[in-house]
Amino acid sequence: MNPLRPAILAAAGSSKLKDAITRVPVTAAVVRRFVAGEARADLVPVATALLESGRSVSVDFLGEYTTDRAQADAAVTEYLSLIDDLAEVDHAVPGAHSEIPRVEVSLKLSALGQSLGQDGPAIAAENLHKLCTKAVERHVWVTVDAEDHTTTEDTLDAVRLARAEFPWLAVALQTYLRQAEDNARDLATDGTRIRLCKGAYQEPATVAYRRRAEVDASYLRCLDVLMRDAWYPMIASHDPAMIAAALTLASENNHSPGDYEFQMLYGIRDDEQRRLVSEGHALRVYIPYGTQWYGYLMRRLAERPANLAFFLRALTDR
Ligand code: FAD
Repeated sequence: MNPLRPAILAAAGSSKLKDAITRVPVTAAVVRRFVAGEARADLVPVATALLESGRSVSVDFLGEYTTDRAQADAAVTEYLSLIDDLAEVDHAVPGAHSEIPRVEVSLKLSALGQSLGQDGPAIAAENLHKLCTKAVERHVWVTVDAEDHTTTEDTLDAVRLARAEFPWLAVALQTYLRQAEDNARDLATDGTRIRLCKGAYQEPATVAYRRRAEVDASYLRCLDVLMRDAWYPMIASHDPAMIAAALTLASENNHSPGDYEFQMLYGIRDDEQRRLVSEGHALRVYIPYGTQWYGYLMRRLAERPANLAFFLRALTDR
């Protein structure tokens, strides 16, 4: 783990820092490196170019921990339009239109109302149902992001419930959580689609591994479970060691490229993304857009000291 990560994630909670950083126009190169833009109109050309390069996409309309019902409703409205726009982009770009949708939306249940008090989980579940219904009509997939550990149980419950009707609905599992391997076993026996990531939030040692070696070992254990039992494992990592392990496990379990996919974040390891695609692997890029980019950007800065240095230089050069 980046030794500065806890400090950066803790500082990210300061409203003064947030005010200072969000004054940076989103067009600033440093924000644009990780975020497609503030509006859907900015996202569409980015998604189109990625599809044209042979990659698939998963698009996140940024927003989290919504405390206002109107904001949750607005997020649903935006996602409904996003699903339509992505379906149009998919049709417009030539290429293999297989059973595996090339376009997907990623969403956070806290943006759909999960944190709206006692009724929050039910509101988020209802909104998730609405979006999955629309996604089926437009041949678009949905993955539910994993947020901080206080939301994990509610999120997994909502996904289990929705999967009865939408078995292709995916969820992200964070291998820094001590419960990750149990969750992987539990969900993989259903033959589900699971996105495996290391985890990006600041979590207490009571629930999460803190050492990089432990998080990586947990990733490898979960990967082993998913490669054996899940219908469609999604390896969301930029780490060469995790990618190599996935390729070995895929071959040991007689999977062909296309039985699983790699996933990376927009703006990170673009060369490696292209290399995997050129070797015939399925690769999906997670693209965020929207005005609420602060939390997302801070998690990316916390992952890598070089990103923070780049960001601070960009701020002082303005
Ligand atoms: P690391 O060990 O952190 O990094 C390995 C290498 O990747 C680094 O050496 C570096 O070369 C490169 N790299 C990693 N991060 C960066 C960066 N920020 N900038 C530049 N280079 C970098 N987390 C959640 O908590 N919930 C989610 O729902 C979630 N969804 C995700 C979806 C996708 C598609 C991906 C790729 C990640 C997602 N994450 C999510 C984030 C994830 O948990 C990690 O925080 C992040 O991917 C870094 O972990 P890593 O596996 O790439 O390995």
